[in-house]
Parts: sequence; structure tokens; C-alpha cells
Amino acid sequence: MSTTKKQITITKDTVLFRQGDAGDCAYVIESGKVLIYIEKGSVEVPIAHIKKGEIFGEMSLIDNSPRSASVRATEDTVLNKITRDQLVDRYQSSDQLVQLLLRVMMSRLRRNNNTLMNTNNSQDESALEEATSNDAFGNIRLENRLLEALNNQEFEMFYQPIVDMEQNKIIGCEALIRWKDPIAGYISPDKFIDFLENSSLMIPVGQWIFETCFKDFNKFKDQFGSDFVMSINVSGRQFVHQDFLIDLEKLTWKHKVLPKNIKLEVTERVMMDGFNAMDILNRCTEKGFQISIDDFGTGFSSLQYLSQMPVNYLKIDRSFVSKINSDPKVLAVVKSMIYMAKELGMSIIAEGVETATERDVLLSLDANLAQGWLYCKAVPIQDFLKLPIHFSLKKAA
Ligand code: C2E
Ligand code: CA
Ligand code: CA
Repeated sequence: MSTTKKQITITKDTVLFRQGDAGDCAYVIESGKVLIYIEKGSVEVPIAHIKKGEIFGEMSLIDNSPRSASVRATEDTVLNKITRDQLVDRYQSSDQLVQLLLRVMMSRLRRNNNTLMNTNNSQDESALEEATSNDAFGNIRLENRLLEALNNQEFEMFYQPIVDMEQNKIIGCEALIRWKDPIAGYISPDKFIDFLENSSLMIPVGQWIFETCFKDFNKFKDQFGSDFVMSINVSGRQFVHQDFLIDLEKLTWKHKVLPKNIKLEVTERVMMDGFNAMDILNRCTEKGFQISIDDFGTGFSSLQYLSQMPVNYLKIDRSFVSKINSDPKVLAVVKSMIYMAKELGMSIIAEGVETATERDVLLSLDANLAQGWLYCKAVPIQDFLKLPIHFSLKKAA
């Protein structure tokens, strides 16, 4: 056998490796032919003759098991080596489900070999067992359920008032998705939104969200006036989708909604998505849509980006609001956020205001806009439309 760095030449009848050997590389045949066979006692059971361009020896690299068969050259053969690192790097960077399917296939092949040899290796069952309980399949099940949910119209939009705390007046709302499973009942977006955002389903679900919100908007406007603003959450995947702005504009024409009445809520993560996100943001504001940064201060905020972005609102996350009375450091952070927003010409919306004390601290810091259970939870449109435009809330004692 002669060896250059990655290329090996083996002469006819050379055994390259034997069944049971440890496997540290796979091979691609550059020229010549090899026989893959199983040794059953003194008998050779041929499995496959393979030739130029084909790969062998990859199974051991993928599932880290000993060689399941032996290989012998049936003519002088030139091979190119694929090392474990070369293959494993690529394998590990592939989709989890693809990895799992590969392991299942390996497991089936090895089971077939065991059957041929009348041996049993319980290790080979592991990939199949793993498959039935694996997250990757759980995700596929959830994806199928979410697709069904979309087709069966199991999603609903709820709306939570956004309030001017000084006047106790509803000035807008945030649209929040709910999934009404026929058996489990209402499922909170916390249980499925991350998954949705990481799958291609976010696009059709996102289109349904926008269609529903725009359709509902005019009912809000009739009840609460033409300055009413509806905030709609937009995931990164939706935001950078090529048709995002075109679809949005079509909806404004179809439902006769003015862009100034729609606020797009995006997280810092979306904003940080470089030039593309910035370009879309700019185009959205050019068309007249409002932009709000959601969960501000909870992710990787880049102040440099923030100063360049056409943002109208910063939303202070509930994790800050809920500690505003008890933690002086949090209070200091909130004060700085409010100061910075003002200096940058942005408005602040405090999220998750649950108590009158939180409201009063926010008001004393000159943050006037809020949403939270102090006023109202997210509710279906028919309940929202029954709300008075002014809440009757007293100051905390
Ligand atoms: P978010 O955008 O930060 O929405 C605010 C969340 O805080 C909502 O949870 C709302 O119901 C909740 N909340 C409001 N006030 C209070 C309060 O006083 N106390 C407490 N404990 N919670 C309050 P929800 O509706 O469960 O939504 C969770 C997250 O799911 C949202 O967080 C948002 O990231 C995502 N989400 C919801 N609807 C949509 C949607 O239509 N599209 C997208 N892309 N994401 C959505
Ligand atoms: Ca939001
Ligand atoms: Ca938020």
C-alpha cells in the first residue's frame, strides 16, 4: 500500500480493513474497485462491489462504531481518504433531524448485517429507540400540529390596551397571538412562538396575523378614534422576508388602513441583523409605519445601531418594571433608558405594569405610556371593544 498525504494506492487483493476494526476514516474511490463483505466463520458473504466515485467506510465515522464489514480491493485501486474531522464537522453542522435520520439508517443497515451474520448487537437498536423519543421528531410533530392549527383556524388574535397613564386613556393596543387547541384549550405563545419563529411556518402564520390585525383595525378605529395605533409583533424571519413590505402595503390598501396607525414591534435581535434589517427598517418608516423596539435592554443592545435607527418607541421589558420599586439599580437603569430615549427622540412604553405603585414611579420618571394587567390583560376583540376609552384608576396611596 503506498500513501501520499490523503491518497492511498492499494494493490489487488489487499484487505483495507476488517470487520470489528476501529474506523477513523472513510474513503472515496478514485479508480479501481473494492468488495465489501461480511466474514461469517470462514465464509465471505459479499455485500457490495463498489467502484470509482463511490464512498465507503463512512458508517463508523457517523455512529462511532467499529467497522461493520471488511473491505478488499478487487483490482489495483486509488482511494482518497476522508478523515473523521472532515466528515464529523459537516455532519454536526447539519440539521438535527438529518443527523437523526442518518443514525437511524446506519442502525437499520447494521441490523441487516447482524441478521445476515446471525448475531445480535443491542447497541444497534439505540438509534431507533432514540428516534422515537428524540426532540427532532418532537419538533416535526409540533410543526405538523401548528400547520394543522393554521389550516383549522385554531389561532386567534387577542389585544391588550396601551394606555396613556397620565390621562388613563387607551391610545392603542398590542396584538398577541393565542392558539386555541380543541383539547388543551388556550396555549400561550411562550409555548410555541420560539419554535414558530425558527421554522418556515412563521411566514404563513405571520401573514395570517397581519391579515387578521388589519381586518380588525377598523373596528378599533371606529370605537377609539383615528389616532388609535395597533402594535404588531414581527419576528426576524418575517421582517427580512423578501415580500414583507410589499405584503404590508397591499394590506393597507385592501383594508384602507393608514401606515401611521400600525406599529411594528421588533426585538433588538432583529435590529442587530446588519444592513438588511436596517434597510427594511428605513423602508418601513419611509412608507409611514411606526417602529418599536420590544424587550429593550434584555438582549444585546448596540447603542451605535440604536442611534442610527429610525425608531419611534422603546418598550421597557416587564423584568425591569417589576423591580422598579424594590431594586435601586434597576430603577437607575430604567431612568437611563428613559433619558436616552428622550434624547434620541423616542417614546417609552413600559410593559407589564401590574401595580399602581409601579405606575406612579413610571409617571414620576416622565414615562407616560404603558400596558399591563393593572389596566387590562390581552382579550379578544369583542371584549376589548367593550372597554371604556378612559380607565378609572386612582393613584397609589
Ligand atoms: P411580548 O411581545 O413582550 O408581549 C408582552 C407579553 O407580556 C404578552 O405575553 C402579554 O400578555 C404579557 N403581559 C402584558 N402585561 C402583563 C402584566 O402586567 N403581567 C404579566 N405577567 N404579563 C403581562 P404573551 O401574550 O404571552 O406573549 C408572549 C410573547 O410571545 C410576546 O412577548 C411576543 O414575544 C410573542 N408573541 C405574542 N404574539 C405574537 C405575534 O403575534 N407574533 C410574534 N412574532 N410574536 C408574538
Ligand atoms: Ca411585543
Ligand atoms: Ca416585550
